[in-house]
Amino acid sequence: MRFSLALATTVTLAMTAVTLAPASANAHATPNGPTAVGFGGAVSTVDATATAVGLDVLRRGGNAVDAAVAAAATLGVTEPFSAGIGGGGFFVYYDAKRHTVSTIDGRESGPATMTETTFIDPADGLPYDFQEARVSGLSAGTPGTLATWEAASRKWGTRPLGALLLPAAKVADRGFPVDATFRQQVADNAAQFAQFGSTSEIYLPGGAPPAVGSTLRNPDLADTYRLIARRGTGVFYRGPIGADIVRTVQHPPVDPTPSVPWAYPIRPGDLRMSDLAHYQVRYPAPTRSGYRGLTVYGMSTPSSGGTAVSEALNILEKTDLSKVTMTQALHRYLESSALSFADRNRYVGAYTPQPVLDKLISDGWASQRACQINPDRALTKPVPPGDINATGCTPAPVGGPVEQGQSTTNLTVADRWGNVVEYTLTIEQTGGNAMVVPGRGFLLNNELTDFNFTGTQGSAPDPNLPGPNKRPRSSMSPTIVLKDGKPFLAAGSPGGATIITTVLQILVNRIDLGMTLPEAMAAPRASQRNSPGIQAEPAFHQQYGPGLEALGHTFGPDVAELGAATAIEFTRHGGLIATAEPVRRGGGSAGVLWPRR
Ligand code: GLU
Repeated sequence: MRFSLALATTVTLAMTAVTLAPASANAHATPNGPTAVGFGGAVSTVDATATAVGLDVLRRGGNAVDAAVAAAATLGVTEPFSAGIGGGGFFVYYDAKRHTVSTIDGRESGPATMTETTFIDPADGLPYDFQEARVSGLSAGTPGTLATWEAASRKWGTRPLGALLLPAAKVADRGFPVDATFRQQVADNAAQFAQFGSTSEIYLPGGAPPAVGSTLRNPDLADTYRLIARRGTGVFYRGPIGADIVRTVQHPPVDPTPSVPWAYPIRPGDLRMSDLAHYQVRYPAPTRSGYRGLTVYGMSTPSSGGTAVSEALNILEKTDLSKVTMTQALHRYLESSALSFADRNRYVGAYTPQPVLDKLISDGWASQRACQINPDRALTKPVPPGDINATGCTPAPVGGPVEQGQSTTNLTVADRWGNVVEYTLTIEQTGGNAMVVPGRGFLLNNELTDFNFTGTQGSAPDPNLPGPNKRPRSSMSPTIVLKDGKPFLAAGSPGGATIITTVLQILVNRIDLGMTLPEAMAAPRASQRNSPGIQAEPAFHQQYGPGLEALGHTFGPDVAELGAATAIEFTRHGGLIATAEPVRRGGGSAGVLWPRR
């Protein structure tokens, strides 16, 4: 195992040299702040190194797809707990020449042997505890990220995939500075990581999370990227890397004497080479809906993001939010997301028939749902899903709330030709299933825990139970909004099921509530996912809590932060406003090729 960790004082400079030196004559890029305004192309990610790599690709004439893939590969190094080739994601692409929005579904799929009872303990017939299922081979699906990068670069890119992996390989080799967010993510997962020698060797050097300011290197991952660059993705899906993935899932590399004890047995999974060999990305048509004269494109199944965001927007569209008080606007926002989540939970899974998806994002359905909102009184949560076969305000029997994890990463890229990429990728929980594939330097996902372990819909069928080769329902919501057929806004976020409400809230803030994009991004967030209590950031609760509570809304315990979004707004004459989080998750990094002075 080769890895090392050393204190370095000139890390940032060293990194800049790796990624930007050849183009340093054009040192206009300012990739370190949360907002950048200018022209010629833009990149926004959660991480300064990844943003710098993406900008460098753009500067050298690559397009938005090239830059997105190179930046994502870099996030696999610097944000390894949220992204990487051990996971999956959803890629949304606006093609400026064709004026079309296309998507790639690179979601992980379950093994061919997966069944509805995969997450039921045969010993007692009860579902496994979440952490027991997560830190196991059972939770790892066939990764789709590498296939996504290959498909995107072949279809729409201008550079071979191999060339786009090399900047990330350099970062992995030379190392990157550990910041407080990175260290905290390790600390939060120290017990999980300690169970596997292959993971603790990299991320728990000397048995503890790496120090802030130290340099973290991952030469195994650099070698993995270079091997793929030389020999193609076959080494992953049909070759030696795949064999190592399968071995890791079937025989987890458990440390017999972990430095931190673990409460559960570590169960193997049944992912096989044939599962990897049969994996294919899909190209679903994006979801498409109108909102106040704009057209909103999102991700269709197996993500619920596109339908849930669109349904909530359609419900909101029934009220002119710019003409009501802030409390009333937020009341509508919370009610529409609760209604939309009820329907998502009941109807949306990998195999939802297209007519059902179409109905959920139709204006007629929005009217059927919006009519339940009372301006003076919050609905009692959970609200029942709507009855898809009925007309009028008829609710169906009650279905409960469904939660998901809090990891993932998002990036937004635009190029000088007007192409746009909105891409969300994940390994599910922060740290995935906690197993680094020995000798390969990347973590495996635990995406299959996004399935419901047992039915959640009473006597009605649950669309998100596990099954053979099935992809678990996601909440990832990479979204591109067009105005008069041209890009107006692209946005996305991590955050499990809160992704849907974060994207929705950014859109409402920007489109309806008079905020600029950076304001819409920074504004305090709240998430109502059809649970009794609203999940809110403290600032939201403080500012709007009293007004909303007077309407009957209840708040659950506050959460420190929701989401870690990135976005780009397209202004007149090719102008770009690239934004990332100013504070959440340690702050993100937006850059433009030619800053406006
Ligand atoms: N696995 C989640 C999903 O696909 C994302 C995880 C997260 O963002 O925390 O919706």
